[in-house]
Amino acid sequence: MSLRKVQALDLFRSDDVIGIGMEADALRRKLHPEGVVTYIIDRNINYTNFCTEYCTFCAFYAPVKGPGRTKGYVLDFETIYEKIRETVEVGGTGVLMQGGLHPDLKIEWYEEMLRGIKQRFPKVHLHCFSASEVIHFAEVSGLTIEDTIKRLRDAGLDSIPGGGAEILDDEVRYKIARLKCLTEDWLNVHRTAHKLGMRTTATMMFGVGETLEHRVNHFQRIYDLQEETGGFTAFIPWTFQPKNTALGGRHWEEATAVEYLKTLAIARLFLSNFENVQSSWVTQGLKVCQLGLRFGGNDVGSVMLEENVVRSAGVSNCTTEEELRRMIRDAGFVPRQRDTLYRQFFLN
Ligand code: SF4
Repeated sequence: MSLRKVQALDLFRSDDVIGIGMEADALRRKLHPEGVVTYIIDRNINYTNFCTEYCTFCAFYAPVKGPGRTKGYVLDFETIYEKIRETVEVGGTGVLMQGGLHPDLKIEWYEEMLRGIKQRFPKVHLHCFSASEVIHFAEVSGLTIEDTIKRLRDAGLDSIPGGGAEILDDEVRYKIARLKCLTEDWLNVHRTAHKLGMRTTATMMFGVGETLEHRVNHFQRIYDLQEETGGFTAFIPWTFQPKNTALGGRHWEEATAVEYLKTLAIARLFLSNFENVQSSWVTQGLKVCQLGLRFGGNDVGSVMLEENVVRSAGVSNCTTEEELRRMIRDAGFVPRQRDTLYRQFFLN
């Protein structure tokens, strides 16, 4: 076991939450000495909820067969363009687009959508399709991962979000998402994208019954890939939201605020080769998110004009740009808008 893993496990087993937070805060200050905390204005668009994977932690999908299929949808392109138009009108700079794994949509459908968006909104940054979607597009279209990413990039894709990582340890993945891509597959999509010059983010959804060893295994896998390629812009951890999910239907103890903050801080310390670590208001609410800024977080994610996946799990925290800025200022930082690639806008 690597020294990093041993040290991270020691921290997880320690009760000194404040001490761990202070260590993470010291590293955050070293990496971001200017005292800025960033946020983005963008929109999550979920182009379809039809999905063949049946992940036990997911409250969002509609099955492609059986009675549940009536709640399924596929957005038409005009609706997608309209959502982007609204985003641009309120100062949004990007779109995070993800969906279920639709069995019939081939690569041409995604290419046409991306081209249509870029023709109408050439400046909007398209941060789309988690690794499991990219793998699925490749499978249904008979392409390699590299060719799939190249074709999406040529059609307008700018970067790839880190969704679908959950816990990057196959022991956990077999239990919670038997049909979904494995650890190596997820890493391979990101490695391939990085080698093609595309940036991506890394995420972790924890509190799904994993052990502390599984969490540090996850940290180690993305730390190693970052050492190899340097292609990740940020690490974004959040906690499993159990409502309306098969996994949460059993008796479930949701991760507490302390567990969230401790995990955030240990992630900050472990992933010293990541420039940015995000504190989540969507799953934690604004108050815990604000505390996260003293536990290693230097970004609060998106003002988010639309969010469907976490809302499907019964969590509906919402905010405005001004509220996020006030929360950042009150924690002692300068709020600054950024784009998807974490480039700051110096006008505000
Ligand atoms: S998490 Fe994604 S892949 Fe899994 S069921 Fe939900 S939409 Fe499908």
